[in-house]
Amino acid sequence: MHDKMNLLKELQEIDQEISTIETTRQAYQDELAVFDTDSARVQAMLDELNEELARLQQEEAQLQQEMLKERDNVIKVESRLPEIQTQKEYVAVLKEIDVAKKANKDLDDQLSAKQQELSSLQQDQQEKETELAAIKEKAEARGAELAELMSESEAVLNKRKGTRDSVANDVPGALLRKYQTLFKRRGGLALAQARNGACLGCNMQLPPQQYNSLLRVTELQSCPHCNRLLYVEREA
Ligand SMILES: [Zn+2]
Repeated sequence: MHDKMNLLKELQEIDQEISTIETTRQAYQDELAVFDTDSARVQAMLDELNEELARLQQEEAQLQQEMLKERDNVIKVESRLPEIQTQKEYVAVLKEIDVAKKANKDLDDQLSAKQQELSSLQQDQQEKETELAAIKEKAEARGAELAELMSESEAVLNKRKGTRDSVANDVPGALLRKYQTLFKRRGGLALAQARNGACLGCNMQLPPQQYNSLLRVTELQSCPHCNRLLYVEREA
């Protein structure tokens, strides 16, 4: 029983180490994922801005087109002035010129508003591009470090797993399964020390009779409260 328990203790130590390495590796991966999420988020904003910019530029071109047409219109109407015969006709043409000029002014106002909007969006676009470049630069630098850490930890992990398998091989199957279930369910602590009549895994008192039999080392026993496998440290 003592040998089995020593094997299990060794196994638990390796398993805890493996679990720590795996947690660290997960953290590296999470860190890498954050860069991807960040750059995807900024890229999405940039895509939206570019779409909006394209739409505004189209509207700007359309306004410029309309302005040219309206200017032609003013020239055309003004060209009729010398041929006017009556006062009534004269007033009507002047009014027409006035309307056309006003339309021109409106278009001009719309155009400058559009251009202002465009320039503000272009500024946003520039900012987002700078932000994206910064994220990518950082992701590349840190990404290289993380890739190295990942490959280093993978080597250590594989070595530990090899050791783990050879230790686990020496543990009887049923006991190994019990240990593995406990390790998963009890937060990486399948074995608990019993001391001063209590289980140190759950800090509950053990029945005195059970504690006494543990001291005598007869067979593997489980804590009746947390189910962990109990061991007693021998005083040297
Ligand atoms: Zn317990």
